[in-house]
Amino acid sequence: MQKPPVTSDFTIHLPTLMLLAVVVMGATAAIMSVFGLSQRVYRGYWWWVGAMWLATLGAALHGLRNLWPVAVVPACLLVMVWPVLITTGLRRFFSRDRQFSSTRIDVALYVACYLGWLACWLASAPQPIRSLAYGAGSLILLLYAAVFIGKLDDFRRSPALKLLMAVMIVQAAVPMLRLAGMFSQGAGALPAQSLVVTGVVLPLLLSMLFTVYLCLVLTHERTVRDLRETQRQLRVLADIDMLTQVPNRRHFEELATAIVGNGAAPPSVLMLFDIDHFKHVNDNHGHAVGDAALRLVARCTRDTLRTRDVMGRVGGDEFMLLLPGASVDDALHVADRITRNLDLASKNFPLPLSLSFGLVQIHTGESLAAAQHRADLALYEAKRQGRRRAVPARQDGPDTVFGESRSLGLDPL
Ligand code: GH3
Ligand code: MG
Repeated sequence: MQKPPVTSDFTIHLPTLMLLAVVVMGATAAIMSVFGLSQRVYRGYWWWVGAMWLATLGAALHGLRNLWPVAVVPACLLVMVWPVLITTGLRRFFSRDRQFSSTRIDVALYVACYLGWLACWLASAPQPIRSLAYGAGSLILLLYAAVFIGKLDDFRRSPALKLLMAVMIVQAAVPMLRLAGMFSQGAGALPAQSLVVTGVVLPLLLSMLFTVYLCLVLTHERTVRDLRETQRQLRVLADIDMLTQVPNRRHFEELATAIVGNGAAPPSVLMLFDIDHFKHVNDNHGHAVGDAALRLVARCTRDTLRTRDVMGRVGGDEFMLLLPGASVDDALHVADRITRNLDLASKNFPLPLSLSFGLVQIHTGESLAAAQHRADLALYEAKRQGRRRAVPARQDGPDTVFGESRSLGLDPL
């Protein structure tokens, strides 16, 4: 028995497809508008929304051109502007980047491409010539948008921008294939209906929707980046003493506990130091000079430390240092270097500045608080012995024993 020939009764009704495309595009534009009104968006976003609304209107007018042929004039104007508006949105969105070309060139290119097609239409050129003019104009504008995206500073690190460039190139390929098809079939050939559907309407619709999605991804990426930056700034505000730019007491203790508390750390020295007679600085020269003195002490200390040492401002004129892997002798050298740095740096200061140090070697298993207490006693002893000196504490308890005190700076160790 002979099998009946296989036939397909699947046909695409172009006006229905156009209507569907217009509905999908309109819904997308509406969703973008609602998103923009209800969420945080950035400069440039509304250009993308505008691009979607105008493309929807353009597609609707294209659909009407059988009933009203003149509709093609505004339709082409609105659809052709799509890559220009996307580019303008990107210009605003990445306004801090160096940018390829300028808005004037965007507009000039768009006007030239549109007028090229309009001239053909006004001259009643044959349909293939008009299609050629329209396809060539779209191709130029989309490739220009792709080049613009590729030149953005963020292009290398943003997958969304790379995809956006790819979409622009794919979108440009649609008119390119159309042109190639026309040339291969001869200038008189009109694209078949199925070719129009599969080769023009669907790819254009899909690439537009994907572009919109990528614009939303860019917005989301910017929101996440802003949030991280805000969190970083909040952490800085919570952790850093704004006057001296060193960690505050809480953050110092956090950092020091992380080093001392893990048990595996080498023996460390904890050093507490304080400016001598700082009240006189404030009383005789004013608070601003006092603040400058605190900043100077912090800078001289920071410049002396190794990267793994930890420093903090733990009180008015009191600073604390944790020197991992250091011995008491090493710490005495550090105290002396800080003092010498300060002597040099404060030469032009209204009055000489000096420091007193109390330092302790942290015992195995000793808590930071216990070590701080011993360092405090040693500092008190340094003040008692006449200031501008460092005193090491050897033992804890009521009978704390202090090591030999060292005067700092001018007297070599
Ligand atoms: P000693 O040698 O015994 O340390 O005497 P001192 O005068 O330095 O006394 P003390 O360390 O107790 O003085 C701390 C002073 O620091 C008291 C306070 O007015 C001043 N101070 C605290 N915070 C600030 C600040 O942020 N800026 C300024 N300019 N002064 C501050
Ligand atoms: Mg003091």
